[in-house]
Amino acid sequence: MPYPIVHMMFFVLCISLPGLFSFAQTALSSGVYKRDWWNLLLLLSIGAFFSLLPDIPAVWNYFLFGNLDHGMAGPVPTHSLVFGIVAFCSAFILGLLAYRQRDRALALGMYAEAAFLSHLLLDDIAEGGLSYLYPFYDKPMSMFSYVNVKYSGIDFQGYNTAGIVSVFFIFCVLLMALMALNYLGFGFRYEPLRSKAETACNQIPLASQHATREIREIQVMNADIIEDEY
Ligand SMILES: [Zn+2]
Repeated sequence: MPYPIVHMMFFVLCISLPGLFSFAQTALSSGVYKRDWWNLLLLLSIGAFFSLLPDIPAVWNYFLFGNLDHGMAGPVPTHSLVFGIVAFCSAFILGLLAYRQRDRALALGMYAEAAFLSHLLLDDIAEGGLSYLYPFYDKPMSMFSYVNVKYSGIDFQGYNTAGIVSVFFIFCVLLMALMALNYLGFGFRYEPLRSKAETACNQIPLASQHATREIREIQVMNADIIEDEY
């Protein structure tokens, strides 16, 4: 089990990196409103919290029994499908309260699920043996412990399969986070390649670009002043 700060940093700095990058790009180029900063803070707080959810029993075990046992909540393993559903549903309800839009709430649920799975990913790499599929299958399973070069000469097929499954697991976590971020306004768009002639036709004159940016900055300042007054 990596420490909580490692789980949070892994999710916020690595898995959520596209969202942070796109937000910084917009903030630096055309400015954002104060409410957008709150939106970013809300998103990162929810991501950080759900990246720690599987270890949450450590909190009450510490205060009640003086230990840091964190694998079970009563009879239910916390690093399992059951808590994955809890993460999704809790974030969905929070999303409904925060955004009052079902699609955005679903995206927030998916983002929380990606945070939850990123925790399992790190735990699997660190120690292996998680009850991923509880209640359907309660034996501990590990994907990353078989991606070890010592197995390559013994069981080529198993070694190769474990590697492919591990890559697919990481791909799913990244894809879920990216899709959720895109729905929540933190996405990227591909800009198709253009010929020189098309670029020249579509290019906005430089002076006009400056004027647009100044107008946008004034809009942001006015919006912040209005928000402060209310
Ligand atoms: Zn854990």
